[in-house]
Amino acid sequence: MLPVAEARRRVLEAFAPLAPTEVLVRDALGLVAAETLRAPHALPRFANSAMDGYALRGADAADASEATPVTLEVTGEIRAGDPGDLEVSAGTAVRIMTGAPLPPGADAIAPIEVAQEDEGRVTIVAPTPSGKHVRPAGDDLGEGDVLVEAGQELGPGELALLASMGMSPLRVRGAPKVAVLVTGDELVAPEATPGAGQIRDSNSIALTALVKEAGGEVISAGPVADTYESTEEAFRRAAELSDLVMSSGGVAVGRYDFVKDVVTNLGRIDLWRVAMQPGKPVVLGAIGGKPFLGLPGNPVSIHVGFEQFVRPAIRKLRGCANLLRPRIEATLTETITKPAGRLHFVRVRLSMGRAGGSNMGRAEGSNMGRAGAGGSGFSATPTGPQGSHIQSSLINCHGVALFERDKSRLEAGSTVTVEVWRLPEEP
Ligand code: AMP
Ligand code: MG
Repeated sequence: MLPVAEARRRVLEAFAPLAPTEVLVRDALGLVAAETLRAPHALPRFANSAMDGYALRGADAADASEATPVTLEVTGEIRAGDPGDLEVSAGTAVRIMTGAPLPPGADAIAPIEVAQEDEGRVTIVAPTPSGKHVRPAGDDLGEGDVLVEAGQELGPGELALLASMGMSPLRVRGAPKVAVLVTGDELVAPEATPGAGQIRDSNSIALTALVKEAGGEVISAGPVADTYESTEEAFRRAAELSDLVMSSGGVAVGRYDFVKDVVTNLGRIDLWRVAMQPGKPVVLGAIGGKPFLGLPGNPVSIHVGFEQFVRPAIRKLRGCANLLRPRIEATLTETITKPAGRLHFVRVRLSMGRAGGSNMGRAEGSNMGRAGAGGSGFSATPTGPQGSHIQSSLINCHGVALFERDKSRLEAGSTVTVEVWRLPEEP
């Protein structure tokens, strides 16, 4: 059976970034820059005032103080948005608002708080040397500086900077279309009352949410009956409509598991079964030229399999430079065991500082839970029973501790690597 890292390497090899498109900056949240973007001009474009106050010559008021005030003639006013062409000469000042352009001749600002205006004259009572409270042109970025690198995801900060620079429209990679197919005759909608032996389809809900969170667009999420014909029809159609076909269930060795047969006949299978728990029967293949990823049906298996293979694949389609979740070292709060042979993904809760979860009282190991233990200062507590059908193990879960293939026991107090899906909020 393939190790997880090798399987992921092969999965990622099967994916290439989508073609770039152009969007307005206002529509680019969460999209990925398709090229490195550089500043077309300096930022700020022009020197401007950092304060509401008076623009003056630093030479006039550098040594001003309460004891030795400096009085200047006020010759006018410049508001934000004004062209700012009022010349400031020796012995004069101009009233100025925050963000307004520094007028010619001025090189310092005395804030209102240290200035008193009366009958056309202003008295400055604090040292105001050249450069004081001035934001010079290019203070933030110079022309040609890198704004965002190719492959960077665009968040609010990046969008704001690109907007300031007039980079709209811009070249990005959009959301890949992901066909989500869930197989199983036992499935009914979440709103339905299941008959005897039936269950509600939770995988469509989970996978749709996971795809959206990963930056993909779900194009279909209906259940597929466990017959060869309906599986083939649904998979063929999905491949026509999407950039990636993914499925849950039907990839094990049961009599009604048709996914592998269908994929083999419509395209090819490149990989099946990975040395991991949960989620071993992963399939990588292709249907009609589109990449295919099949996950086993158990609700925890799809979640873990999605994180290991589908999310990185979606990120590769999106053109992201970084494909994988961050990993931290954390202190394990409980001893855990397993048979050697597969990498186990142990769902954990993270807590900062002290050992968290329900095990605080019986923490073994004297250094456990101390801030700094385990490198990151986080403690990791397994979320409870870890079977691949135990959906409660995903509640309030921050990620997975990697219980390595060859290991069969991890001691409480030891350091584990945790792949972080999210971090706990502060109260
Ligand atoms: P399979 O991989 O098709 O053998 O399914 C494995 C287990 O996952 C079975 O217990 C299924 O009932 C369950 N399962 C499969 N699909 C879903 C689904 N869409 N929602 C919830 N559970 C599912
Ligand atoms: Mg099934």
